[in-house]
Amino acid sequence: MSITATKFLPFHKPTIEQEEVDAVVGALKSGWLTKGPRVREFEMAFSRYIGAKEAVAVNSCTAALHIALAAIDIRAGDEVIIPTMTFAATGEVVLYFQALPVLVDCCESTGQIDPKAVERAITPRTRAIIPVHYAGAPCEMDAILEIARRNNLKVIEDAAHALPTFYKGRMVGTIGDVTCFSFYATKTITTGEGGMATTEDEDLAERMRILSLHGISKDAWNRYSAEGNWRYDIMEAGFKYNMTDPQAALGLVQLAKCDAMRQRRSEIASRYTHSLDRLDCFVLPISAPNGEHAWHIYPVRIDPLALVINRDSTIHELKERGIGTSVHFIPLHLHSLYQNQLGYRQGQFPYAEKMFETVFSLPIYPSMTDDDVGRVIEGLYDIAGKFRR
Ligand SMILES: *Cc1c(COP(=O)(O)O)cnc(C)c1O
Repeated sequence: MSITATKFLPFHKPTIEQEEVDAVVGALKSGWLTKGPRVREFEMAFSRYIGAKEAVAVNSCTAALHIALAAIDIRAGDEVIIPTMTFAATGEVVLYFQALPVLVDCCESTGQIDPKAVERAITPRTRAIIPVHYAGAPCEMDAILEIARRNNLKVIEDAAHALPTFYKGRMVGTIGDVTCFSFYATKTITTGEGGMATTEDEDLAERMRILSLHGISKDAWNRYSAEGNWRYDIMEAGFKYNMTDPQAALGLVQLAKCDAMRQRRSEIASRYTHSLDRLDCFVLPISAPNGEHAWHIYPVRIDPLALVINRDSTIHELKERGIGTSVHFIPLHLHSLYQNQLGYRQGQFPYAEKMFETVFSLPIYPSMTDDDVGRVIEGLYDIAGKFRR
């Protein structure tokens, strides 16, 4: 068969062109190998792009989430509400404080955190909510902000998938108390490893800046520059979470392409939706009715009533046809840590479980050609033809 003979289409490939290579080489040649002027430049460009007052660059989204929770003074015994349908990072940062990640279910149709479930999970110990903009579509932020306001909770958004995402005309990154972005290799823009925290609150930004570099009161680059002062003060036990100039140089080039790359992913998503809509054995993601989708992930669910094979076999069949896929996510409550140490059990979050059992993610990235997209569609038609009930 000709489709099996063609080259494997990976689930993801970062878009790295000559400009990125030149920018990183430029940073290396400048002598700024760690946090320097390019990191500041990237923070300024990022805050301008988002329309946020402050942006703090760090070495991952996990680090951003960690210092955001530290900045709002999460303490041992506090409770933080998070969706079970997320990546490890969203929950582990809560555990860093000996605080409790309180998991909640998602909405059946969107996979996003269910505001009603958030409301039910609130106790006198609840301090914050971390909504995750799953796949790059916005959560129901009005409902979440309203619950937070009424219960005096902070909202720290996990926007690892949500660059760029809009909610009712507002850009994600300007809505909650702090928003955390990821520039991991597979995310919508990349610095290899990297992250950013945005906020409108200058005090929170200052606290996060200090925490991101040893709890020291002055940025190291300023300390060693000609006009810098050698004196510094350790204010509290901080972390080694700073971004580096070669990363920021990469990030600046990637950020300039953010909209164009989103445009290409959006075209791919439209083509998937348009072409696969006729196959009744696959349930397609709904575009963001309340805003604009970043289309970081294109999650498809199989309809077990229409297909004789399960999700795992569907993934296997696609792989046989040279197409890479992934699964977002194995819900947190199904992992050993959450079951053995926090007492969660299978069966607790039916919508997340049903979604997990049926969902898989199709390749969606700017360097995919129209032929690549066509191959994915063809592969799914082939599978539907072979395995439809
Ligand atoms: C990738 C991801 C993270 C972690 O990002 P890093 O930059 O790798 O730390 C956090 N949350 C979600 C939902 C993610 O997908």
